[in-house]
Amino acid sequence: MSKVKYYYDSESLSYRKIERKKRTTFKYASFFLLGCAFFAFIFVFIASQYLESPKEKAMKRELHNMQLQFELINKKMSEAETVLANIEDRDNNIYRVYFEANPIPEAQRKAGFGGINRYKNLEGFDNSKLIIESNKRIDILQKQIVVQSKSLDEIAVLAEEKEKILVAIPAIQPVSNEDLTRMASGYGMRSDPFTKARKMHWGMDFTAPRGTPVYASGDGKVVRADSGSSGYGKHIRIDHGFGYISLYAHLYKYNVRKNQKVKRGDIIGFVGSTGRSEAPHLHYEIFKDGERINPINFYYGSLTAEEFNKLLEHASLENQSLD
Ligand SMILES: [Zn+2]
Repeated sequence: MSKVKYYYDSESLSYRKIERKKRTTFKYASFFLLGCAFFAFIFVFIASQYLESPKEKAMKRELHNMQLQFELINKKMSEAETVLANIEDRDNNIYRVYFEANPIPEAQRKAGFGGINRYKNLEGFDNSKLIIESNKRIDILQKQIVVQSKSLDEIAVLAEEKEKILVAIPAIQPVSNEDLTRMASGYGMRSDPFTKARKMHWGMDFTAPRGTPVYASGDGKVVRADSGSSGYGKHIRIDHGFGYISLYAHLYKYNVRKNQKVKRGDIIGFVGSTGRSEAPHLHYEIFKDGERINPINFYYGSLTAEEFNKLLEHASLENQSLD
């Protein structure tokens, strides 16, 4: 109940009720409501700074969960990176070495993405760093996998090729072990049987009785079967492809003709002592891209480890060759 106010009217000499105008009442009420609204607003504003709404609480929980998931994903990425690094290591140091392909440089494998900033739309948030870092890792991982996959495709092709190479290139002893009297001389500096001077012996000499079969050491085509090369006497050259040629010298007899295709193990001729030779033996050479190389590394197809060691020991002796 609002107080009723009176005033003293000097004309009528009596107290009269003060009538409040309706408009004034409305004005006061408006002021009051406005004030209330203002304080309410201030209160809500301050409260919102310190108190969380249930919705905010839920969102916060969700954000926290998301961050946790991101961390878990990053952990899994680390594991994937480790596995991939292992595969890359094997790829570079075993597969590519085995198939004589150059290793893929680290820089090429781990290349990021230069030029434009791919992550610009991810910038400007509280969690930008986490999201950008994760994205970068995934992108690099993805690229590494592509590089690795291409490398394995290449290896698959090389493996197929290698199989052909393995059949073709010289891989067995040209004279069988039972027929060997002894391995007479290896590749390297040897004394000449005729002049006794020290000179390079470009092949391996296998001593064996005249008429002992001589085998093709790999698949290929006979490119020469004649005595036209000075010193070699009756000799055979087989082109194995891939830059490999094997040569068999001082033969007693041929068993093949020029241009004939041969398989590894085929009898191509017989041991003799034709040409510049001191005694019946097979002089055996291997050419790679036109250069003569040590045949000792080309017997993996026919010898046991023990036999190979014996051969190696013998071939390293600096004795006299039979030429
Ligand atoms: Zn020789």
